[in-house]
Amino acid sequence: MSNATQLIHSIPVDPLTGSISVPIYQTSTFVQDAPGINKGFDYARTNNPTRATLENIIAKLEKGSTGIAFGSGLAAIDAVLKLLKSGDEILAVDDIYGGAFRLFTHVYEKFGIRVNYVDTTNAENVFHAVTPQTRLIWLETPTNPTLKVSDIEAIAKIARANSCWLCVDNTFASPALQQPLSLGADLVVHSATKYLGGHSDLIAGLVVTKEKELGERIKFIQNASGAILAPFDSWLVIRGIETLHLRVQQHSRNALAVAEFLETHPAVGKVYYPGLKTHPNHEIAKKQSRGFGGIVSFILKNDTEAAATDLVTRTKYFKLAESLGGVKSLLCHPAQMTHKSIPAEKRRAAGVADSLVRLSVGLEEAEDLIADLEQAFESTRLHTQPLQARATIN
Ligand SMILES: *Cc1c(COP(=O)(O)O)cnc(C)c1O
Repeated sequence: MSNATQLIHSIPVDPLTGSISVPIYQTSTFVQDAPGINKGFDYARTNNPTRATLENIIAKLEKGSTGIAFGSGLAAIDAVLKLLKSGDEILAVDDIYGGAFRLFTHVYEKFGIRVNYVDTTNAENVFHAVTPQTRLIWLETPTNPTLKVSDIEAIAKIARANSCWLCVDNTFASPALQQPLSLGADLVVHSATKYLGGHSDLIAGLVVTKEKELGERIKFIQNASGAILAPFDSWLVIRGIETLHLRVQQHSRNALAVAEFLETHPAVGKVYYPGLKTHPNHEIAKKQSRGFGGIVSFILKNDTEAAATDLVTRTKYFKLAESLGGVKSLLCHPAQMTHKSIPAEKRRAAGVADSLVRLSVGLEEAEDLIADLEQAFESTRLHTQPLQARATIN
């Protein structure tokens, strides 16, 4: 059975009524037959049937044993960090999602958890950076926004040899392209806000564990801390997941076409996309994923914030916004948006140049998206008035 067929049929038909869409159980509590005797549910923070359906679907999709759904991607990441105790160390990818950096460094360091940020694109760096205190290795692959790729299988071996957990933030690839648990990771987290939800209409997070025992620990943490996903939002993620394979295939096809166009454009200095043969870890990306995803970044030959601002205000289909993974194409200028809180020197050192533009390539026709970028480049060259400025005059 193909992955898509398996996925579509892992979404159950309601056994009570035959409803083909998963019912939304909008309830806080469940009536018990006698104290402690219930139908598997007692209080909706602990468990809810709609959320449980989503949790089973994501566990199957990531080839894990347990799925747990949270109110946001960061709430999911937070639950994984609560496995640690004071004195433990995290070894994390250096080009980490800004929100994860803020949580690790500005919240957890004060509880005595140390974080060591390492360039994980070479597994040897991980091997040398592990210490006896390291309990958790944290990867994103590909990363945001420079699309760095790390070898999950090689790093999983290092984690196992040193008795630490490997957690992979699989938001960018999604399980349609990459399944880290099959490559040896212990945990996967998602911002389901992005490709799993897929329609830019909710905030949600997921954790999947390979082993049941670790899943029970995360479930305990969730019930104790309370950062659950609501029934309606659980239903929205389920509905998004139904078309995940189809969407991600098209996102990937469009992104490759856009990346190839950008590579040939005279105003572009460099293109970051794991699907390009020029990407330094293209071979690893090919080995561990079925496709290269919908995110493309590039820097301009005129590497200034002003040049990037000029460009990102001139596109018509690519809307200027944070976030990614939705139907409509988005673009953002990390130096002034997602990475604004990082000091300029540190940001540049991490490869996020002043003019770096990140595209979330959507589901429009690739040729329309390329034409949109082409007209934006052309109008910056001719110094015509930007689209947004024109819109405000109107
Ligand atoms: C967006 C994002 C997150 C955070 O998820 P939220 O749903 O916004 O809390 C974490 N990791 C990555 C890679 C992301 O892109």
